[in-house]
Amino acid sequence: MPQVTDHGGGVRSIEVPIPDNPLGNTLVYVVDTDRGPVLIDTGWDDPASWDALTEGLTACGTAVAEIHGVVITHHHPDHHGLSAKVREASDAWVAMHAADIAIVRRTRETRPGRWFTYMADKLTAAGAPEEHVAPLRTARSRLPGLTPALPDREIVPGELLDLAGRRLRAVWTPGHTPGHVCLHLEERHPAQLPGNGRLFSGDHLLPRITPHIGLYEDPDDDSEPDPLGDYLDSLERIGSLEPAEVLPAHLHAFTDAPSRVRELLDHHEERLTGLLTLLSTPLTVWQVARRMEWNRPWADIPYGSRNIAVSEAEAHLRRLVKLGRAEQVPGSDPVTYTVV
Ligand SMILES: [Zn+2]
Ligand SMILES: [Zn+2]
Repeated sequence: MPQVTDHGGGVRSIEVPIPDNPLGNTLVYVVDTDRGPVLIDTGWDDPASWDALTEGLTACGTAVAEIHGVVITHHHPDHHGLSAKVREASDAWVAMHAADIAIVRRTRETRPGRWFTYMADKLTAAGAPEEHVAPLRTARSRLPGLTPALPDREIVPGELLDLAGRRLRAVWTPGHTPGHVCLHLEERHPAQLPGNGRLFSGDHLLPRITPHIGLYEDPDDDSEPDPLGDYLDSLERIGSLEPAEVLPAHLHAFTDAPSRVRELLDHHEERLTGLLTLLSTPLTVWQVARRMEWNRPWADIPYGSRNIAVSEAEAHLRRLVKLGRAEQVPGSDPVTYTVV
């Protein structure tokens, strides 16, 4: 049985499973418009996920062939994975922010070998031991979800999307990815809850869990963006919208966005402060990642998640450097960081 929730006011959600993932599923939202249903995100590209989506649409009284458009919050495969199949079955347009479209284009064009070499070099520079880096130097296979659909529409921040009979405004919320957007449904809450409409928050604002904030890994970009700084700024922006209800892409809907925003801001402030204490002795990014607190001991963190942890550690270090609270030790190789 497909898991469908009616959120009222012509908005439903379908639980689309993510295989072998503790998060369990992606909430794909179905928004009724005068020209047919529009999806917010599509879910992981897997046969069981596809079945859940199509059966869910049937339970909503529609069908995948009826989909008019697809709005993607960000390029990750648990959100954008099934977009190609939906477009094929329905001729729907697929919309995404330009910064994430650029990532999709790059992912489709980059040879896997180049990507693994880039990651291996980055980890070596971060001070990772050779036995950790070695598998990447020989890996050549394509990772799942690495042939995503190229969107055919751009989501323009601040503008209303072209949805007949609805007011859905794009809010650019970089941090989790450079082109992440939240979507603000500027309509009165169907149960008259106090606040300003409803917010589809993607992975930007979730109950209970904090989204991964790493670096915007890009083999072609030598600039040093500050994803954690971007994320904290976008969080404040979302809090000030004061939506009556948040409809996130994972877990469940919730109210009181400003206090969830506050919790997340406090969480990252605590992490940054903890990091400064660690940096009383100079450490590489790898050493910082090993010493930071995760949801389990370092020894129990699987290989792929360690790479994500390293990226997250580096995002926090970069924030501290941008704030002038930490710096790279001149001449260190691999680079070490210390408090200013
Ligand atoms: Zn994501
Ligand atoms: Zn996600």
